[in-house]
Parts: sequence; structure tokens; C-alpha cells
Amino acid sequence: MDVVVYSSLNLTQAHLVRSLLICEGIPSRMRHGLLAPLAGELPMDACRAEILVRAEDVAAASAVVAEAEAPQGADRPCPRCAEENPAGFELCWRCGADMPVARVAPRLRLVPD
Ligand SMILES: [Zn+2]
Repeated sequence: MDVVVYSSLNLTQAHLVRSLLICEGIPSRMRHGLLAPLAGELPMDACRAEILVRAEDVAAASAVVAEAEAPQGADRPCPRCAEENPAGFELCWRCGADMPVARVAPRLRLVPD
């Protein structure tokens, strides 16, 4: 049984989510992708493009979606000292530790419908 992990009236963003899932090796499929342009003609909720994954992939896929939905420039904690650092920082401003590289490139961000 497939589970919806993302839906949007924005077809481009739905494709972006699928691309991110492909990059992570998570199989997915899109449903209602052709209906998104009809929003307004048909009930809105019926027109949302949906991305579905297998039940066993829901946790991993949801993490990918959550990361992509995080506001651009969200602070991240330093792995050594836990100080919050702006997203673009490669080194912790406080202790100089290497900051983990964001898994999703900063430009690949989802915005709310
Ligand atoms: Zn630090």
C-alpha cells in the first residue's frame, strides 16, 4: 500500500520532490499530476499532485521532504558544540568545527502552496 508523503497544486514542486527521492534511491510515483492545472475548475483537493512511496520508505521519504521544506537559511546546530549556525556556514562560527554539508542543495527548496 503506497502512502502519500507530499502533495501540491504546484506540479513543478511535485516533480522536484520526486527528483529528490530518486537521488536518495527511494522509489516513488506521482498521482493526479495531470489534474493540477485544473484547480479551480475541479475541487482543489482533488487536483493536488501527490507523491506516493511504499510504506517501508515513508520515514526516509518524509525526511527528504521535510528537509526540502525547511525554510531557506534555517540555522543548523554544530555537531561539536551545538551552537546554531546559519545554513551557508561551512565551519562553526564559535568553535571552528566542520559543519555537515546540507544533503539538499540550497536552491532546491519547496515553498508552500
Ligand atoms: Zn561549534
